[in-house]
Formats: sequence, structure tokens, C-alpha cells
Amino acid sequence: PFHKSKGQHILKNPLLVDSIIQKSGIKSTDVILEIGPGTGNLTKKLLEAGKSVIAVELDPRMVLELQRRFQGTPYSSRLKVIQGDVLKCDLPYFDICVANIPYQISSPLTFKLLSHRPLFRCAVIMFQREFAMRLVAQPGDTLYCRLSVNTQLLARVNHLLKVGRNNFRPPPKVDSSVVRIEPRKPLPPVNFKEWDGLVRICFNRKNKTLGSLFRQKTVLSLLEKNYKTLQALQLTSEDFSDDKEMAECVSALGDTLGDLSMDADEGKDDDEDMEMDDGETKTSDFKHKVLGVLKLGGFEEKRASKLSQADFMHLLSLFNKAGIHFS
Ligand code: SAM
Repeated sequence: PFHKSKGQHILKNPLLVDSIIQKSGIKSTDVILEIGPGTGNLTKKLLEAGKSVIAVELDPRMVLELQRRFQGTPYSSRLKVIQGDVLKCDLPYFDICVANIPYQISSPLTFKLLSHRPLFRCAVIMFQREFAMRLVAQPGDTLYCRLSVNTQLLARVNHLLKVGRNNFRPPPKVDSSVVRIEPRKPLPPVNFKEWDGLVRICFNRKNKTLGSLFRQKTVLSLLEKNYKTLQALQLTSEDFSDDKEMAECVSALGDTLGDLSMDADEGKDDDEDMEMDDGETKTSDFKHKVLGVLKLGGFEEKRASKLSQADFMHLLSLFNKAGIHFS
């Protein structure tokens, strides 16, 4: 009866459901967003803990089953079920999101939530273990990647609970983890498009030195193009994007990160399709400028795998001060 393609793995362990509820810190006044309620095992306990639950479910059969389950109970007036794809629908106001989601929407959903306004208090979400470990990874961890850096710019992320595959029916092929995501308030004053542009280049080969990454012809010519465009327009792109613009960038990001957000350098030979420093080219002045910025901040020998949020922030501001932009 369960659709594999919809990621239907039902939570069967009531103790685990209790533990998720307890760790969520739900208040009796909370409007709770649940994504993919399925048969409603989590939904029931969310209704007991909060003021109301809005549940978004793709599968009409599940929607029916859910409505049947709560029909004629005191819960039914506090439950609203929306049938549809959570990635395509407009989300209503909510204080907190608690969900056991289909793993194929992990990345776009995370950034859809983080682009939602007004910002919610926190989201407690079950992810595939590896995705969860990428979300919370710190500089120097093996799984530290563009997903870690971008998520942690916008939110504080904590690993809450390891969940074995046997807690689900049918059991999925992978283990899971519950993660808490708390949006930062206020959000850091960075232009998110620029931020991601820089982070993308740095993590293209996360174990290469920035000095060698920024010597690549493709990188230099991209940056030089931006540089010249801005100069021709005689404007320096704004230091701060407004919140609406930022939300749009954040939301779009989910699609470019992919569901498991594998780094580009995984499985690749380090020097493969890497454009080597080719000495004298017409970009050499500009190259000098770019490398000068790296030297100024002491970044030439650094690698993305070890850089903190503060390092990326500092590097971006040095580039911007030199008129070099990433979007
Ligand atoms: N919450 C239930 C539980 O813990 O027992 C079921 C979780 S199951 C992993 C994921 C649920 O999300 C399924 O009921 C599936 O039909 C639903 N779903 C899949 N894709 C969806 C989407 N794009 N939008 C909303 N719901 C979706």
C-alpha cells in the first residue's frame, strides 16, 4: 500500500515519536506545520502538544486516511490538511515545523523553509543520516560542504537524534537523524547570491588551496566579467540585499544543492578538468587584483574544507571592497 516513490516510510516506534515531540520544545500556543503526515502517528502527538497543526500531504489516499482518523475527535477542529506538493504550495504562517519527510525533497525543502517569512522559531526534521551530518558539519569534518556553509549562514543547526532504519515500516535503505534548524534572527547582513557564488567556487575543490582555485581561467574570466559589467554600470552592487530578494535567493538554492548535495570534488581526480595557471594572459592585471585580495587576508594557502563562516564572511568583504563580485 505504500508508495516508494513518495518516500512513504511510516514511523512505527511510539517511543521515538514521543522523543521527537519532547525534543521539539512545542508550546501549547504553537501553530505547527507538519510535512508528509502520512497515516498521522506524529500528527496525533503534535495535536496533543500544540494549538493547531497544518499538515501538507501529497498523497490523496493518505489525506483521506488522516481525515478519517481524526474525524469526530476533539482534534479535528485543530487540524488542517492541505493536499499537495509542499514544494509547490504557499506555506501558511507557522511557529514550528516538525516532520518526517520524504528524503528526496530534503534540500529544496530546507531552503524553502529558510526563505519563508515571517521566520519560524525552529524546524525539527527527520533526514537521511548523511544529509543530516552534512547540515551540521563543521570546518575540518569530512562532510563539511556547500550545504553546511549555506545552511549555517542562515540557521543554527543541531543534531538531535540518531534513528535506525528499523523504526520505519517499510524500513528505508538508509539510517536517519533528527535535526533542529533554528533560523538566525536577525539574518546576517550578506548578499546571499554573492555569498553562494563565493562558496560555490571555494567548494568546487574543497581541498585545493584558494590560491590555486582562483588562478583557474574559468573563475577569473567569470569574475572579470562581473567586474567589468559593474564598472560599466558605474555602480557597486549593494552590500545588503533586501529581505525579499534574499528570500528568493535562498529558496532557489535548494534546487542547485541537490538532494544529497554531493560535493563536486567527490570521486574526481584532483587535477582532472582543472584549468592550470597559464602564465601571461590578457587577464593578468585582473588576476593580480584577485590574488592580491587573497594575499591580503592570508587566504592563498587556505582550503574551503577548513574555513569557518567568519572566514568566508571576511573573504567576501575583502573581495567586495576591491570591487570584485560573485553575482
Ligand atoms: N509522517 C509520517 C510518519 O512519520 O509516519 C509519514 C512519513 S513518510 C516518510 C513521508 C510522507 O510524505 C508520505 O506520507 C508521503 O506521501 C508524503 N510526501 C511525499 N512527497 C511529498 C511532497 N512533495 N509534499 C508533501 N508530502 C509528500
